[in-house]
Formats: sequence, C-alpha cells, structure tokens
Amino acid sequence: MQEPTHILAGVVIQKSLAGGRYKKTAMAVTAVAAFLSHGFLDKLSNVTFHPADPDFQSVFWVSFHLAVLFGSIFFLYVWWRTYKWGILFSMLPDADWIFIHAQEIFHFQISFYRQPHMHHLLGWVWDKIPPFSLVTNGLNRLPNWRHNSWACLSEILLVLMLLVTIRLLTKAKRPDVVVKNSPP
Ligand SMILES: [Zn+2]
Repeated sequence: MQEPTHILAGVVIQKSLAGGRYKKTAMAVTAVAAFLSHGFLDKLSNVTFHPADPDFQSVFWVSFHLAVLFGSIFFLYVWWRTYKWGILFSMLPDADWIFIHAQEIFHFQISFYRQPHMHHLLGWVWDKIPPFSLVTNGLNRLPNWRHNSWACLSEILLVLMLLVTIRLLTKAKRPDVVVKNSPP
C-alpha cells in the first residue's frame, strides 16, 4: 500500500485504543496492531495500482506518485503530533526499503540487511499464524490489479473510508470531553 493509507491506519488504530485507563497497555497494543496492519494492507495492495518498478516515462505513474507524496506530507502535518506512535509503527516496515535502496544508491552494504526483514516477518505472521492466515486466505482470492491504473481508485476509496472512520471516532469521543469540562 501507499504511505497515506498506512498513515491513516496508524491514526485509526491509536485513536480507537486511546482514552482508556490503561495507557501503557493501549500503547503496546497500538504498536503491535499498527505494525500488523502494515502486513494486512500490503496483502490488500494487489487490488490497488502498485507496479513493482517505477515508470518515470508514464505521466499517470508520476502524477499518482506525486499525489501520494503530497498526501503523505499533508496527513503527517495534520496527525503526526497527536498520533505519531501509531503512525510510526504502521509505517515502520517500509524502513526495509529505505535500508535496501540506500545501499543500492550509495554503494555500501549492510550484510544483514539485504532483505526486507520486517516484510518477511509480517508475511510469515499473515500467511502462517491463525487467525491472520484465515484472513490472508480470503485476501489471496482477490484479483491482481497491480498494473491496472484504474486500480488507484480502490486505494482512494480505502483512504476515504479511513478518513470517515477518523471523523466518526472523533465524533464518538467528543461527548467525553464535554462531560469532563462541564462544571460539577
Ligand atoms: Zn510495505
């Protein structure tokens, strides 16, 4: 999946778990759930426009990825301050690609980091461990639209659904604030 989707997933997870009495437990669960959400979304990315190699000749590819870049910056600007914990863990596995591509670009080698280890770990969890593997069985039946440019619409739809969820969570938590601030 593209980064804006991972960012919003991190926000939704942290927001839905926040506000309880057990703050440390909520933070631990947020970290694990956000990390695992990355694997789920990457499995789902077959139904989105996600070609393996960049295509700088294609106007569509370049425009879509520019929109993704600006979307990521905008979402980080809006939510990073409050939801950095969830966002950090939902994006963390993509540090794999930073380590791997940095070695290619700057011609150095980290011998133990030639493979996307975090993605392999997530792949193992989502492929082998129930109940995650049951979800993966279902996801594997979805069509592969990675090279179909129209499939960017499924990612846009997912982003919109996550935005609506954030809005609903904000609304659901609002009465609490009113009660806390109202005079006794
Ligand atoms: Zn990823």
